[in-house]
Amino acid sequence: MGGEIQVLPLSSWGINAKKPIVIAGPCSVENETQIWETIQSISAYCHNQVQIIRAGIWKPRTRPNMFEGVGEKGLPWIKQASAAVGLPVAVEVASPEHVERALKHKIDILWIGARTTVSPFAIQEIANALKGTDIPLMIKNPINPDIELWIGAIERFTASGVKRIAAVHRGFSMYEKTIYRNPPMWEIPIELRRRYPELPIIVDPSHIGGARDLIYVLSQQAMSLGFDGLMIESSIDPDKALTDAKQQITPWRLAEILSSLPETKQHLSDQESGQLNSLRDRIDIIDDCLIDLINERMVIAKSIGEVKKEQRLTLYQPERWTDIVNRAIEKARKKGLSDDFILKLFQQIHNESIHHQTKVTEQSGSEIKQNMNTL
Ligand code: PEP
Ligand code: MN
Repeated sequence: MGGEIQVLPLSSWGINAKKPIVIAGPCSVENETQIWETIQSISAYCHNQVQIIRAGIWKPRTRPNMFEGVGEKGLPWIKQASAAVGLPVAVEVASPEHVERALKHKIDILWIGARTTVSPFAIQEIANALKGTDIPLMIKNPINPDIELWIGAIERFTASGVKRIAAVHRGFSMYEKTIYRNPPMWEIPIELRRRYPELPIIVDPSHIGGARDLIYVLSQQAMSLGFDGLMIESSIDPDKALTDAKQQITPWRLAEILSSLPETKQHLSDQESGQLNSLRDRIDIIDDCLIDLINERMVIAKSIGEVKKEQRLTLYQPERWTDIVNRAIEKARKKGLSDDFILKLFQQIHNESIHHQTKVTEQSGSEIKQNMNTL
């Protein structure tokens, strides 16, 4: 499992690949006038800032009988409207039939939606349909926070010979209500970047936030984390949009957001990096200490495991665990660390302790077997 994902850089997409790459357009194509005016307006307000137009033609809706997109007849509308402003256009495809129709109408770029990435069967069928074509493809993360499923989809396309690929981070669906429609869980795209540094990653603040007033701050976070671009839903009259009305912004607002994003740099001068390096050295020392301390804690946990074994005590002791968490949270709160962070950290540490203690118990299982053999 795993391995290389070989993709070409965004500069091979035939676009002005400056950073950030911006992909903008309505959630859905609704009629010829709406898409023409939207694209004209994006071009007028954001020229040079937007490199790709996006527009949904087939819409994956949660319930039937909702607006499911205009379908194939919208393809010539978006192709003509984006060609008129000299920009390539991207649409979502969810089946080999969509691929065939999009290619027939010379759509420039395709994307795979979050509800499709979750299904390896659907992905494989689309990957087969793309064999022998060289169209650039964007792959949104699956709706659930499963990095392996996301990578698996990307691998199916690279195995089909698709070379121009970008991942799109659109957040992850959660049962709990949060301020986000799909919480970003930045650690997941950060891990994707760690594993595949060459894979371009574009962030979709519209579907993460689900609300207009979150677009700016999410875009800023995406840029300060070093991701390559933004996919932002924008249409001429967002309030009247048939899909995702709450999160779409006007092209005018889009231009305002794009021009107020702070500049970020990838590299520093030698002098600037001197200061950074000495801080990083201190972080490395602290990380080493953390590992040593955690190891020491595990050694003690194993001894506790021995005692529990002897006393025939269950490994998991709910009262002790509650005490540990309460104590840690109380102490950490005074230092300004969040309850949620401490809880998650201690859950991981506690799981690892239980794991070590389980090994002690398992050892006793094999000891028993040995004893039986010598009987
Ligand atoms: C979209 O881009 O309009 C869309 C349906 O997005 P997602 O697949 O991320 O939900
Ligand atoms: Mn949408």
